[in-house]
Amino acid sequence: MPLSVKHLLGIKDLTLQDIELIFQTADNFKEVLKRPIKKVPTLRDTTIVNLFFENSTRTRISFELAEKRLSADVINFTASASSVKKGETLIDTVNNILAMKVDLVIMRHSACGAPHFLSKHIQAAIVNAGDGINEHPTQALLDSFSIREKLGDVKGKKVAIVGDITHSRVAMSNIYCLKKQGAEVTVVGPPTLIPKYMAEAMGVNVTYNLREALEWCDVANVLRIQLERQNMPLFSSLREYNLFYGISRELLDGLHKEIIIMHPGPINRGVELNSDVADSKQSIILQQVENGVAIRMAVLYLIAGKKAEN
Ligand code: ASP
Repeated sequence: MPLSVKHLLGIKDLTLQDIELIFQTADNFKEVLKRPIKKVPTLRDTTIVNLFFENSTRTRISFELAEKRLSADVINFTASASSVKKGETLIDTVNNILAMKVDLVIMRHSACGAPHFLSKHIQAAIVNAGDGINEHPTQALLDSFSIREKLGDVKGKKVAIVGDITHSRVAMSNIYCLKKQGAEVTVVGPPTLIPKYMAEAMGVNVTYNLREALEWCDVANVLRIQLERQNMPLFSSLREYNLFYGISRELLDGLHKEIIIMHPGPINRGVELNSDVADSKQSIILQQVENGVAIRMAVLYLIAGKKAEN
């Protein structure tokens, strides 16, 4: 059964069957990653370019590792060291790269919709590695995959997404992904960091009270404040943010049950998460990173297979 999409632009476009197929495929690749030789020849004839117009550590390394584990040929492109700096357009940059016979483009860009735009102009398949505040589909897939691994299922689970909801593509993709699988979602943060019509538009609960959200949830996915996307002050200080919305050991210990803590990284320790929470047994942050490679191998395999089919 193939994926229903040619490109992975966002979770919004996926069916529940697509998500389940990606997870089942990732289960198999996770087995491969446990072997002494963690490499398979699956994408031996495929050339992939990692086109990163915006900073990244985890996502970029994770995609590159996934590509190499699948034996693909890999090209890395960093905007800051390229002719984009000399005024070249996005389509020209990409067409020049594709002229070198690239099959798959992994793209991160600060503009929402950049990969969607590109997908209308090029033949190669595109995987969105984060576009502005819009979506970060592979992050949401690895987040749900990690919840499924830890709790057995995503359906029926209660997930609180904490922090800067307005500027977070991780929040958006997670909401689509969790809702499609039948999880309940609450977003929590300061009113200035949650879009006004969130509840109606996305079918989630909204609260401004962190303790209330944590008492309710099974899992808290904690987000970084996306200061680079805020062009006006939306809260008074990081110290005050930490007091009201930072997760401390004391707060977790005062809850009536043990919840799971997630974070997509990079963490700002002492702001959204205190170190004794980030590094605690309740945190599955490093398992998320580990699962990221298997999820991205699954996505690459399924998208490359889809391309071969066309
Ligand atoms: N790494 C994630 C992203 O690229 C989360 C973050 O940057 O806070 O969206």
